This record gives sequence, structure tokens and C-alpha cells, in this order.
Amino acid sequence: MFEATIAGSLPKPSWLAEPDKLWPHWRLQSADLAQGKLDATLLAIKMQEDAGIDIVGDGEMSRQHFVHGFLEFVDGIDHDNKVEMGIRANRYKAMVPVVRGALTLKGRVHRAEAQHARAHTTRKLKMTLPGPMTIADTVADAHYGDKIKMAFAFADLLNAEARALQADGVDVIQFDEPAFNVFMDEVPGWGIEALHRAIDGLSCTTAVHICYGYGIKANIDWKNALGDQWTQYEKIFPALAKSRIGQVSLEAIHSRVPLKFLSLLEGKDVLVGVIDVASDTVETPEEVAQVIADVMKFVPKERIIACTNCGMAPMHRDIAEAKLYALGAGAKLARQRFA
Ligand code: ZN
Repeated sequence: MFEATIAGSLPKPSWLAEPDKLWPHWRLQSADLAQGKLDATLLAIKMQEDAGIDIVGDGEMSRQHFVHGFLEFVDGIDHDNKVEMGIRANRYKAMVPVVRGALTLKGRVHRAEAQHARAHTTRKLKMTLPGPMTIADTVADAHYGDKIKMAFAFADLLNAEARALQADGVDVIQFDEPAFNVFMDEVPGWGIEALHRAIDGLSCTTAVHICYGYGIKANIDWKNALGDQWTQYEKIFPALAKSRIGQVSLEAIHSRVPLKFLSLLEGKDVLVGVIDVASDTVETPEEVAQVIADVMKFVPKERIIACTNCGMAPMHRDIAEAKLYALGAGAKLARQRFA
């Protein structure tokens, strides 16, 4: 009970990539880079194991960005002539690559790091992929002429990689869908169906991570404009509860999501964010256990997994490590108290 896991990313070592950045430049090239990514993956696994994390991940050491790290492996996308596009319903503008032809995978996306991680840990292993709705909101379309059609084309590619990750021995495959609280009406409409396409045929545990975004000013401004209570999830949780996705990951500590909404996720395992990734203040195990106690009012305790609010990629490495230890120790404290 109260297993601990992470949403996905961890800070990269400074010999691999620029520290403290959401979009770091690599500091190694070609074969050195490939080896460096694997070495960093091993460090990420070891750090999580030592911190008492039960379901470990690769820390996303091999990708520069959670969406574009996948898009690099997709043919049909023009990365050289990016265009400016409003992202997340025009919350901010970004230069995005353009889909110019039928989408196909160049090959495996995360084989090297998944197999390396699998070879070096006996714990449950989780890998993350961007969700189809979020991808479709992060590229421009000059080929499909229909956002939904394009999203399902991406879902097919995600499904191929997810099946391969399962064959690599991955226990949990998570799709990151920050777009789910932006296009609330489209989530029950087609967002969940696109996710179902992405998990088709999988027998491993599946998860979706949703969140209000962290780290960039546009997200902080947006959240400040949402008022005292963030109510977007109320609209999408009933649809998620009916879906075939096994787990839902979301923020709790220091967020303005009313915890009572979690009761709408009946039947799902809930990865509860007990670690704030937008603050450098390290949580105490006591605080972590308290969030778990608060969530127990709305989610059966056997369905609660302790997690980070979101990825930790842009954080200082020493702070992220201290927060991992707080996560592990807090989950352990909750087990002693509430199990
Ligand atoms: Zn997130």
C-alpha cells in the first residue's frame, strides 16, 4: 500500500545537458551522447531506489522535451521550418514543427533506455509517452486537415512504441496529457478514445498524467487567473473514471484542485502529487503523509500511490534528490500509520 513513484522526469546531470532548464542543450555528441544518456538513466534508477521509490522510471534522461523527444522519431514532420502557433487554447505561443505528410515511426523511440533500465532494476519500471491530444496541440498540421484525425495517427504510433515497451519488460506505461484540462469538452468527445487507441492491446498497467503545467511564466499566470479553486478536472474525471486507463496522476500538494473531485475517479488508482515541483522547499515526510491522509477521505487507501506533482526536469538536482527522499520516507510513514 502507498507505493511511491515519480511523474516522469528528473534533472539531468550537468555533464549530459545544461542544468536547470526545461529545454536543455546536450553537452555530449553522437556516440558519447548515446552512452551518456544510458549512464544518466542508471544514476536516475539508483537515486530512486535509494530514496525508497517503488515504481521507478528512467527519469527521461534520453529526451530533451516530453513531446519533442517523441516527435524526433516520427517521419512526416518538418522540424526545419517551424511556425508560430497558439498552444493550449492560446495560453502561450510557441514555434512548433509542421506535419507535412503521413506520420510513421522511424523505428523504436525509447528502446535503449527502457532495456537499460530494465536490466538494472528489479523494481517495477515505468516509462512515459506524450498523449495524443497533447501532441496534436503541440504541432501544426499541413497534411491531415483535421486535428482529431492527426491525433489518432499519433495514437497509432504511440501504441506501436507502447507495445514494444511492454515487450521490453516495462510494467507501467503513462501518457502525459496536460491538454486534458484545456479542452475539457473534447476529452469525453475524443481525447479518451485517442488514449484508448494508444493503449490498445496492452496488458501492462496504463496511466495518464494530467496537470496544470509547471515551470514557465505563461502557466503560472494562467493558474493565478483561475481563482481559488481549480475546477477543470470536475468535467473530465467522470470520463476518465469510465475509461480503460488504469491510473490517473495529478497534483495535490499546494495545488488548488479541490480534493473532493478525486471521488469522481472511482475505480482508478490515483497517483497523488505529494511533492511540489514548483517550489525549492523540500517537503517533510510528515507533510507527505498528511496529503495522503487528506486524500484518503476521497480515494480508497489501496488505490493511492504517492507521486510528484509533475516532472522535475528543470529543478536543481540536489533539491530534486532531497524531494525524492521525502517522497520515499513520506510514503513509508503513511504505510506505518494508515496501512
Ligand atoms: Zn505535469
